[in-house]
Amino acid sequence: ALKRRVKELEKGHKVYPKVPILNYKDRKRILITGGAGFVGSHLVDKLMKQGHEVTVVDNFFTGRKKNVEHWIGHENFELIHADIVNPLFIEVDQIYHLASPASPPNYMYNPVKTLKTNTIGTINMLGLAKRCRARILLASTSEVYGDPEVHPQKESYWGHVNPIGPRSCYDEGKRAAESLCYAYKKQENIEIRVARIFNTFGPRMHMNDGRVVSNFILQALQDSPITIYGKGDQTRSFQYVSDLVDGLVALMNSDYDLPVNIGNPDEYTIKEFASEILKRVGGKSEIINKEAVTDDPSRRKPDISLAKLHLHWQPRVKVMDGVNKTIEYFREELRHSNMLP
Ligand code: NAD
Ligand code: UDP
Ligand code: UDP
Repeated sequence: ALKRRVKELEKGHKVYPKVPILNYKDRKRILITGGAGFVGSHLVDKLMKQGHEVTVVDNFFTGRKKNVEHWIGHENFELIHADIVNPLFIEVDQIYHLASPASPPNYMYNPVKTLKTNTIGTINMLGLAKRCRARILLASTSEVYGDPEVHPQKESYWGHVNPIGPRSCYDEGKRAAESLCYAYKKQENIEIRVARIFNTFGPRMHMNDGRVVSNFILQALQDSPITIYGKGDQTRSFQYVSDLVDGLVALMNSDYDLPVNIGNPDEYTIKEFASEILKRVGGKSEIINKEAVTDDPSRRKPDISLAKLHLHWQPRVKVMDGVNKTIEYFREELRHSNMLP
């Protein structure tokens, strides 16, 4: 980003990353809802670099203009500040539907809005897909499995979700969104794709996002205590963002229209993960235990056989290589804001 800025100043005009010119029949008009967020902005980069026309719709609840600013002004790119709970009329060929708060503190902040975004917002995007005869991919989540009784989780597992707990606005919101997709497929013949995304991390996660990877890295970089919620025996399996984005594009362009897990099966206890991060960052943080959170799933790991079979996809980035890149990203962010100790 810095190198590009220097080049821009030298040339006196904005310098964009290289974009191929696709011929008319290969070039798609692609909408990304939530495209100014963490995952969405990496997806924007990939699709722009393939030469498509990309439109982002975002209400900037957790997303930032900064995540896509390097494309603003490019003739293939458009950024619309709008809320998908309101109808949206544009012309598109494909929709990647990612708009939804994703981290527990964010989705619990306004649970009613989380539900509206995932239900009314998803209906609007399905209505748009129906009118344009566009294909739509829903960014669903491993949270549809709740606190799972089977391990690892296969797509055929129906889940174990508390319908009235603090996480339900998100879990049940996404379950309703999946249900809406299959209802529109059955009734209106809409082409749908459903990705059940497992914990993903990487650069451009929001500093105050509150998810475990960004929390631990920022705490370690600032010499503050690393906060484990509960005993830290709960497990998660972490995927680097570039693998997720490759998986989403592979799914969108495949013929498979049932839900597919996209995640990295490399599983860690939160305790182990905390010490791995501390070891990599160095620094003087101590690791402390805080109160456990309500309904926190005790273990989570994807079975990715379906993705391998139907998408010929599997994660390529080793989790700790991804962690190192993410540490470097946050170190730069903190240095930039004068927040390093
Ligand atoms: P994020 O919070 O960075 O991005 C979400 C984006 O959606 C933000 O830009 C936000 O401003 C936007 N948004 C929220 N509500 C909106 C609304 N009503 N109208 C328009 N825009 C709205 O989170 P992320 O990690 O990039 O997640 C993207 C998607 O992937 C989400 O749907 C999330 O549920 C799903 N997902 C992510 C993970 C993960 O680990 N990152 C795991 C499972 C599922
Ligand atoms: N919708 C939209 N953009 C469109 C088409 C529809 O936002 O291009 C919204 C529309 O406002 C409606 C919803 O999507 O509330 C569902 O559309 P559908 O056609 O299924 O329902 P209907 O309009 O028949 O109620
Ligand atoms: N967690 C933690 N400390 C933190 C943030 C999260 O111990 O500062 C735990 C959390 O309780 C959960 C796991 O890390 O068991 C993953 O949490 P995250 O919010 O990243 O995602 P989730 O999988 O719960 O949606």
